[in-house]
Amino acid sequence: MPKKLNILFASSEVEPFAKTGGLADVSGSLPKEIRKLNGDIRIFLPHYSTIDSAKYNIKDLPNSEFEIQIGSNKIKGKIKLTSLNVNGKQLTVYFIHNENYFDRGGLYVNPLNNFDYEDNFERFVFFSRGVLEATKIIGWQPDIIHTNDWQTGLIPLYLKTLYGNDPFFANTKTVFTIHNLAYQGIFEKSEFSKTGLPWDVFRIDGIEFYDRINLMKAGIIYSDAITTVSKNYAKEICSSVEFGYGLEGVLAERKSNLFGILNGVDYSVWSPLNDDFIPQKYSGRNIGKKIVNKKALLEKYGLPFNENIPVIGMISRLADQKGLDLIEAASDELLRLDLQLVFLGAGDEKYQLFLERIKERNPEKVGVHIGFSNELAHLIEAGSDMFLMPSRYEPCGLNQMYSLKYGTAPIVRATGGLEDSIEQYNSETKLGTGFKFYDYDKNELSKTVRFALEVFSDKKSWLQIMKNGMKQDFSWKVSAKKYMELYKSLIPE
Ligand code: ADP
Repeated sequence: MPKKLNILFASSEVEPFAKTGGLADVSGSLPKEIRKLNGDIRIFLPHYSTIDSAKYNIKDLPNSEFEIQIGSNKIKGKIKLTSLNVNGKQLTVYFIHNENYFDRGGLYVNPLNNFDYEDNFERFVFFSRGVLEATKIIGWQPDIIHTNDWQTGLIPLYLKTLYGNDPFFANTKTVFTIHNLAYQGIFEKSEFSKTGLPWDVFRIDGIEFYDRINLMKAGIIYSDAITTVSKNYAKEICSSVEFGYGLEGVLAERKSNLFGILNGVDYSVWSPLNDDFIPQKYSGRNIGKKIVNKKALLEKYGLPFNENIPVIGMISRLADQKGLDLIEAASDELLRLDLQLVFLGAGDEKYQLFLERIKERNPEKVGVHIGFSNELAHLIEAGSDMFLMPSRYEPCGLNQMYSLKYGTAPIVRATGGLEDSIEQYNSETKLGTGFKFYDYDKNELSKTVRFALEVFSDKKSWLQIMKNGMKQDFSWKVSAKKYMELYKSLIPE
């Protein structure tokens, strides 16, 4: 019988404990699928004080105190844990605890002033080393350590340096997943001594990046395999500075170890048939019931209901990445069309102000909710007719895949995972699942929305596109198998 793999999955955010974006969805669902495939996978994340310990039954692991040298200080930590049940199998989640670092209102950004925490470098140096120390305390030797984004990028580097001769990790291989290359974790050189790493890794083929420290680069260079969250994004990030953000050369060099694996969807959470957040459950067999959610959504946003006017939803971080400037540029034209727009988002103030402004000017057409609301996110997926994602770049994107299952046709810019997951609708063949445009251009966006509206006005065609979308299967099963194969390929026979 093949050996059962021990897989350590380290992430700075994991659903349902802590979330700012798609990384949390992936870190919450991929390990569950791997567990189903019989891998002994265990999750490690920081013990943020915003996590409800009572609700998730999080306990101290006895005798788990450890100490990490951060510069000239010895910083204490300990391990907490809980267990999730995955189809009768246990999945252990370990939390790295230190009050000074993780007892905050936000994960990376202070919600009071929207600035990154000044000690983010130190916090994630501590977390990265804490994961390795915790593993030794637990006495569980990982075959694979799967790290994610810059917050855990130091782990592969530690394994090749400070822990390079540690017999405990002698057979451990590393996988590093890039969820978003635009956030690289770049810090001042003056912080370097906090890592305890030898200075010879601070060089151009190491973690140095224009005389600063780049934690994403550490993950890319020192891990045994790199993945990113769609095939198309894997290509894009090697090809140009537009997508590679200065790391395109480093990535191109590691191309033979770089794999694109599309994220999956957890349909136990994101499906209109199982969704406990929405007033009316439905499926492909009774699509007509979706209208109850449309009514509820419009009521929630204080907008008038008209069955024949399409509602276009958008749930997004309000960041340049997400194409809000394009919406702004096209807004006059879009708002002349017969449609309603419903937004949910938090982030850049300039975009908040823009959304508030169009809402004020178009009170019957535009609904805006600034903030983070999981419940509302589900209602938008269920209650909208179309979902808008005109991203400048999009490593994978999850909402467009959720939308398909809710019969909410995505309107997307064909970049990264949006290109991979959405098929252009064709009026003649009636095939396709959504509406795509290629150039990052306001006229292309307006043209595509107009085409979507035209299809919407023909009830039969619209029903077809909804059905096409609802039939798609982006469950984690397929992608989890690909990760499992990758893990196995790294282990010597
Ligand atoms: P990204 O990770 O770049 O933010 P993704 O599409 O991969 O984008 O994932 C975003 C996830 O975060 C989705 O689950 C989406 O529903 C959720 N999300 C984003 N903004 C909000 C918000 N304001 N309220 C609730 N959920 C949100």
